[in-house]
Amino acid sequence: MKQPCNRWMCLTCGLLVIQEFLKSIHTRRLVGCVFTIPHERIARMFKLGILFAILLSLSASGQTTRPDAEKQLAHDIYKQFIEIHSGYTTGATTPVAEAASSRLKAGEFADTDIFVGGAILTKANLVVRYHGTGAAKPILLLAHTDVVEAKREDWSVDPFQFIEKDGFYYGRGTADDKAQAAVWIANLIQYKKEGFKPDRDIIVALTADEEGGGPYNGVEWLLKTHRDLIEAEYALNEGGWGEESKKKISNDLQVSEKYVINFRFEVRNKGGHSSLPVPDNAIYHLAGALGRLSKFGFPLKANAVTSAYFQEMSKIDNGPYKNDLTKVAENSPEAMQRVAAASSAWNATLRTTCVATMLEGGHAMNALPQLAAATVNCRVLPEDTLEYVESTLRTVVADDQVSVKLVGEPHPGPASPLRPDLLDAARQLTDKLWPGVPVIPIMVMGATDGAYLRSAGIPCYGIQGFFMDRDDIRFHGRDERMSVQSFYEGQAFLYELVKRLSSASNSR
Ligand SMILES: [Zn+2]
Repeated sequence: MKQPCNRWMCLTCGLLVIQEFLKSIHTRRLVGCVFTIPHERIARMFKLGILFAILLSLSASGQTTRPDAEKQLAHDIYKQFIEIHSGYTTGATTPVAEAASSRLKAGEFADTDIFVGGAILTKANLVVRYHGTGAAKPILLLAHTDVVEAKREDWSVDPFQFIEKDGFYYGRGTADDKAQAAVWIANLIQYKKEGFKPDRDIIVALTADEEGGGPYNGVEWLLKTHRDLIEAEYALNEGGWGEESKKKISNDLQVSEKYVINFRFEVRNKGGHSSLPVPDNAIYHLAGALGRLSKFGFPLKANAVTSAYFQEMSKIDNGPYKNDLTKVAENSPEAMQRVAAASSAWNATLRTTCVATMLEGGHAMNALPQLAAATVNCRVLPEDTLEYVESTLRTVVADDQVSVKLVGEPHPGPASPLRPDLLDAARQLTDKLWPGVPVIPIMVMGATDGAYLRSAGIPCYGIQGFFMDRDDIRFHGRDERMSVQSFYEGQAFLYELVKRLSSASNSR
């Protein structure tokens, strides 16, 4: 008769589940205990296994995140920023700038190295300078502090309360762009604490009104009025992030971006009584134009950056489009058609897009409309001009009753040159933190403040190291969130990246 299995009772300390499992095997399938290894030895093996697992997880977390005290500081600044109502239209960025300023002063930054100011009182920006040896030109670290408006009733949680739930931090701005803002400040304070001596000044600018631009945009204002404060060899900004789809796919480095052009399609009509309708109706004219727009696609094409992107993607994508991705990089029109049809993101990477986003029209239920208008928002490839987009839209509209008017001023920006020092540092660090994950140069479909800098001759690169599920991006939407792990990994990535880019051996 073999040993009775209640000997497993001696393996306490959380092994009761295993005991139960073994018991069930024993009672259901086995007459006696089939394990003939002395139970003391098995106990020792389990203990060793548990110890090994703990050590492994400790060393893994030690590699990908900063020590607890630094994480705590980044967390506290992040929370503070998220809970400030800095909505683009109804909020103020000044409290964020002031909060950052207080944190920096507590971290022993001199008042003379901190600037707080903006186009109007409520839209202040913060600029802080961390002095290096001056061997190389400064590097600028940029993040915006305004956020897209968020209504409590649209969200499942309060958008201006920093909430940790199910492994995520929730709140408006958790991804766009207060994580990077908080990390820039926390890391700068840490550099100071360590006595890190960079070979170039490190400038952090937290700026107003990126969301929607306009007269109070911090980057534009700083360039116009205080350019000396942010003059730099190049800048790091939002716009590049880690793509995840069940596993980490790529750490994207943004080197160019589409720019925005808004148009207003407008139809004016003399109107009349609704009991006497006529075919010449403002709403029908507009509807016809929008219908034609909905069926129109700008030509598909690849440029230097998007070709590089598709080339890299073809190496890591093992789905049905693997071959097509290679062919897109080689400019195959047929492959572009298939790839664009497969994904709205790939479609937007391959062409300029224009889409109706807002409508207005009519003035009474019983009157023929005197006005019908729509806003059409275009995301334009850097190589497509305003004139080209405008004339193309007029051709698509094909109705002289519908006027096509430009709204606001577009800010086209050239692509930034691919810097080998930045690309190499990003690649090495990405591989160290997340082995096997490539760094992919990208053009983003959205627009960032990087466009102002690029136009002003300061190359700008979007890189964050915050990994996000690429099929669940909540920027500007409801329940915006950032994975807790991603936040701290991004902190560690940016900490090391900036250090490398501002250390003698890497700056040239
Ligand atoms: Zn943003």
